[in-house]
Amino acid sequence: MIAELISVGTEILLGNIVNTNSAYLAEKCAQLGLSLYYQTVVGDNEGRMRETIRTALDRSDIIILTGGLGPTEDDLTKEITAEVMGLPLKEDAHTRQLLEDYLAQYQKNDAQRRITSNNYKQALVPEGAYILDNHNGTAPGLIMEKDGKTAVLLPGPPGEMKPMFEEKVYPYLRKKQPETIFSQMVKICSIGESQVADEIQDLIETQTNPTIAPYAKTGEVHLRITAKGGSQKECEELIRPMVRELERRFGKNVFAETENMTLEEAVTVLLWNRNLTLSTAESCTGGAIAARIVNVPGASDVFLQGMVTYSNEAKKRTLGVSEDTLRLYGAVSEECAKEMAEGGCSFSGTDVCLSVTGIAGPGGGTLEKPVGTVFMGCCVKGKTTVREYHFTGNRARVREQTAAHGLAFLRSCILENS
Ligand code: ATP
Ligand code: MG
Repeated sequence: MIAELISVGTEILLGNIVNTNSAYLAEKCAQLGLSLYYQTVVGDNEGRMRETIRTALDRSDIIILTGGLGPTEDDLTKEITAEVMGLPLKEDAHTRQLLEDYLAQYQKNDAQRRITSNNYKQALVPEGAYILDNHNGTAPGLIMEKDGKTAVLLPGPPGEMKPMFEEKVYPYLRKKQPETIFSQMVKICSIGESQVADEIQDLIETQTNPTIAPYAKTGEVHLRITAKGGSQKECEELIRPMVRELERRFGKNVFAETENMTLEEAVTVLLWNRNLTLSTAESCTGGAIAARIVNVPGASDVFLQGMVTYSNEAKKRTLGVSEDTLRLYGAVSEECAKEMAEGGCSFSGTDVCLSVTGIAGPGGGTLEKPVGTVFMGCCVKGKTTVREYHFTGNRARVREQTAAHGLAFLRSCILENS
């Protein structure tokens, strides 16, 4: 079934408020297995709202509107949707009573507050509509059905919209759409986005159920495999062969098969499993790699020390990088990265040490070593691997990419050398 979201409000259109309602509802539609093809934002304008609702009802089975249900003149969502669907408005006694009770409560605290005739506009409901009581505000939500089309109208304030959706709309849509949607993530590192895309092009071209969707993250590519079926179990059975195929194609570059597993967690688990301890010797990242490692609860079992050796002096004193290396090759060099990693292992007494040294910019670049040049070293039980990277972007981006690729490099060195 095809669903469509319409967010009503000039404030959203102008960017004065962020459209969090549609992000929330889009996720819910995916969970329900509804196909969401369009999201529209329309201002509080009668003509354009009419046109938007008409178009949406034409191309979608279920339209979900938020906003414009309040008591003021520019709150038109109910009136226009009812008109487009050809449903006359009638006062609903139950809604009027709830409205009076709600407003009476306010009057207790604020005797000045009067119930205006505008307020009663909210007790008018389209004929045959299913009314969703609002326990957090005055405007009820509505579900209208006609000629196989459904319109769900929800209040704009997220604090009113979300509980109403959870309590009433979700179960209602679940019944309409008995199909389940379920997805699994396969996360890949150490290969670029375009290479991943290239290697799964045939799978994407022939996909039906499950589908496969790539998302590029810094230093990682995530593949979301999504299946539709009668139950979660059925979906999982559809997904399994696809996951096996991806494992076959990407081998050890697959670092996680669940949504919540992060790269730092995968690295930490690997160290745990192999009974290895870790230290880091960072220059241009200033401790960002150590900070990612300690995101993982329990990292203290394997992560013993993080060294931020920003100056040449610190690299010499703490890590034992030689004066000659710094003079002949510079701090941003293969030789320096190697000595940093080896010196890091000796100084901290760990089995493994990852080092990074690079030029984050904006200054400091040369023709030979432009901004974004980073050398990483990884010493695993005395065996050291060094790699040169070239990142693009501003200082923050270079540092972020260095941290992400550093973790991926660390992982591949542990896999190869232990
Ligand atoms: P009210 O009874 O408060 O007038 P309403 O249903 O008429 O509610 P709107 O007037 O359109 O809703 O919006 C009221 C408030 O709800 C907005 O000022 C905004 O804070 C919030 N809101 C509306 N739409 C959205 C949205 N799409 N995402 C996030 N917040 C929203
Ligand atoms: Mg309003």
